[in-house]
Amino acid sequence: MACQRCLEPVEVEVAATFNLAIAASEEAAKQLPRYYDPLIVEDEEIELLPVLEEELILSLPMVPYHQDCSIQTSFGDDAGAVDADGAESASEKPNPFSVLAKLKGQ
Ligand SMILES: [Zn+2]
Repeated sequence: MACQRCLEPVEVEVAATFNLAIAASEEAAKQLPRYYDPLIVEDEEIELLPVLEEELILSLPMVPYHQDCSIQTSFGDDAGAVDADGAESASEKPNPFSVLAKLKGQ
């Protein structure tokens, strides 16, 4: 991902813990205890990979940055590698994964 301070690539460790329960219908999903994440499967087969992929994407930080990012935060400083305009447009960009977070909340 791109560090939101210096815009350089930053490695992000991703781990997700989830408790999926297969449900045959929306109705059956509602009967499940709350600690399960219902996975509604109406066909006989499911593709697990996209399910896992979505869970991992949801676990990504919304604003990734280096733990030890060395960029100068005061833009008046000549040592700063990024100008104010560049940093601004980056932070206004909507996160492409925010729509997934919304879906998860439904
Ligand atoms: Zn950085």
